[in-house]
Amino acid sequence: GMPAAPPPVLAPRRRSRQIRVGSVLVGGDAPVSVQSMTTTPTTDINATLQQIAELTASGCDIVRVAVPSQDDADALPIIARKSQIPVIADIHFQPKYVFQAIDAGCAAVRVNPGNIRQFDDKVGEIAKAAKDAGVSLRIGVNAGSLDARLLQKHGKATPEALVESAVWEAGLFEEHDFHDFKISVKHNDPIVMVQAYRQLAARGDWPLHLGVTEAGPAFQGTIKSATAFGILLGEGIGDTIRVSLSAPPVEEIKVGLQILQSLNLRERKLEIVSCPSCGRAQVDVYTLADQVTAGLEGMTVPLRVAVMGCIVNGPGEAREADLGVASGNGKGQIFVKGEVIKTVPEHEIVATLIEEAQRIADELGPD
Ligand code: SF4
Repeated sequence: GMPAAPPPVLAPRRRSRQIRVGSVLVGGDAPVSVQSMTTTPTTDINATLQQIAELTASGCDIVRVAVPSQDDADALPIIARKSQIPVIADIHFQPKYVFQAIDAGCAAVRVNPGNIRQFDDKVGEIAKAAKDAGVSLRIGVNAGSLDARLLQKHGKATPEALVESAVWEAGLFEEHDFHDFKISVKHNDPIVMVQAYRQLAARGDWPLHLGVTEAGPAFQGTIKSATAFGILLGEGIGDTIRVSLSAPPVEEIKVGLQILQSLNLRERKLEIVSCPSCGRAQVDVYTLADQVTAGLEGMTVPLRVAVMGCIVNGPGEAREADLGVASGNGKGQIFVKGEVIKTVPEHEIVATLIEEAQRIADELGPD
């Protein structure tokens, strides 16, 4: 008979129900979306819209803005109207801002049940307002602001405590026949976070927003997020992601997209296949790889560019790529689609690669 097909690398996607965050579908068979949050004061409308424009250009699908005060709530109508991507209002403490955000035309509202006193009494009104406006919600449970009652019951923010909080709130909305929400159960420890999302995923078909909260500065936060998201997305769990870094939000989008591309959940765009270099390297590979990466940043066509320090693995990798260089002897052999098209002196390698990449991109046309 036929040989069995190899098992897929990622488990089949969990069947979540689909919701709408403005123009972006989340859950079901919708692509996993990437989101971030602005760092500008929301009251500074121009700065916030500028940052949203930068995020949009970097590939962000959905943006969230903080609404800590009345002035921030007052800024929402203009921001929601002028943003090119759906805007989610992030609301703690004050239920009245939820209603204002809905009226302002925000695509969705994130509510943190742990931080809204008497929130449960307001669920019916919130559900009705959201439903009438076609606005979705996120029930955003966070280890740092877990419901006091659950903190006492569980002693700390265990996976069970996070899930209990989320499932409780979800149940309240569902009792009001409101289903257009996603859930997050964030923790700063990737292992606890993975446990929480696994448990939550088994309890219902809610679309899930993945996040390792307070993941840290760029290096640590990138690794924590990539590790946790890799496990969960590998199990088919996760419908939208937010990488939290103590770094500018555009960096979060770059990391998020790179995670999805690494898992083949997004088309790979520019990919630099550069060697780590070793004692055989005949060129400064780090500088060369950085310069090539910088020169090609913003390229929107899929392109694998190999930057190899010597001829041992150089020609092989360079041939596998769309474009590449294998260095040696003060020169670089430039490969395009497996063929050496020219050999240039070392100082011309970067410019030549950028030129050839541009040529390939032009042939492929805009994406
Ligand atoms: Fe070392 Fe050459 Fe391999 Fe780079 S390509 S790591 S320089 S052997």
